[in-house]
Formats: sequence, structure tokens, C-alpha cells
Amino acid sequence: MGKSIGMGVKVAAICARAGRSASGLSLGRERALDSLLFQRRPGEGYGSAVCSASMTLRFDTLDVGIARVEAHDVEFDARLVKRSDAAAFHVVLGGTLGEAHATPDEATAALAAGFSKVEWRGGASVRDGERPCPTCSAPVACWERYPSRLCIVCVLEAVDEQGRSLRFSNAAFSGGFLAMLADGTPYDSHVCWVRNTRCWADEARFGGIVLEPGP
Ligand SMILES: [Zn+2]
Repeated sequence: MGKSIGMGVKVAAICARAGRSASGLSLGRERALDSLLFQRRPGEGYGSAVCSASMTLRFDTLDVGIARVEAHDVEFDARLVKRSDAAAFHVVLGGTLGEAHATPDEATAALAAGFSKVEWRGGASVRDGERPCPTCSAPVACWERYPSRLCIVCVLEAVDEQGRSLRFSNAAFSGGFLAMLADGTPYDSHVCWVRNTRCWADEARFGGIVLEPGP
């Protein structure tokens, strides 16, 4: 596991050079890349940064894929999503929401342009080694440490008790937990809601952010 912390930093550097967010989520190699799941540079947020404070954002996962950077032997969890309140399609890559596109094909083509290989499974069904996200039912790779964690898309939907969008980040490479409203106001709590499910957001063991239902 210690090894993968270093890999996370390496991926952060790769992604920074590529102009991408430094986070990755591996479906196929989740054990080896465990720490990459929510790894990103300090100060980069997880959550609905594109959402106005008064609007609850919702995304429906249409497809699940893996985007690979073969030269560096790393891969990222990619999700094709439809924004429910607009005719817009996005790719969520390792927890980061991509740009809006008018069609699913445009969204996936934009992702493909930046990776040596992208594989889509052709739907969002749950496979062996996965379980359904507790709030949206999209596939989530099984981890013993976080048995009920939400999928990377649902993290984007997190709101506070008043329905204001939240985003989360690590305080530093070494971890830490920060939460704020979409306008940057600090949010001094770990409690949040996703699709009316009360959740707890926290620092993941090897960095990054994990949301689980409760307490
Ligand atoms: Zn979900």
C-alpha cells in the first residue's frame, strides 16, 4: 500500500502535465492502485464545483469505462453521465466532471482524444467484484475498507442540509479533509446528503475523499 502512495503522486504529475485533474479510479486494478482512487493535488476539490448554490445537481450514469495511459501503465475510472436538468452529457474521470457535450458520442470522443485507450462496457450493469452504489446503483468496485462507499458520480451531487452544493478536498498530499460550499465558504462538517440519503464524507485512508451513508 505504501508503494501506491508514490504512484498516486506520480499520476498527479502525469496528469498535471497532461492538463488533467490528478485523480484516478481503477476498476480493474483497484488493489494495486488503491490509493489513486481519490488522489489529487492539494486544493483540488471533489464535488459539484460547477453547480450554483441553489441548484441540486443530478447525474445519471449511462456507461462505465476505463481510460488508460499505456505509456505510464495507469488507468482511470471513467463514467459517461447525463445531467438530469439539462440535455448535456459529461464524462466523469476519476471523480472530476468533464465539460458538457450535446451528445454521448461527443463526450466520449473528447475523452478518447486524451488517452491511448478507452474501453466502455456498454452500460452501467454491476459486474463481479463490484456492488451497486447505495445512492444511484451504478457499479462501485468492492473495497473491504469502505464497504458502502458512494460512486464517484454521486460525490458530485453532495449537498448540505439546505441543499447547497458541497465540494471536498484533501488539505495536502498526505491527506486531511476539507469541505466547502460551491462559492468557497468553508463547511465545518462531514455530514452531507446525496439524493436524500444522509452521508458522511471523510478523508480516505491513502488520501482522497470517500462518502458513505450514515451515521
Ligand atoms: Zn452513485
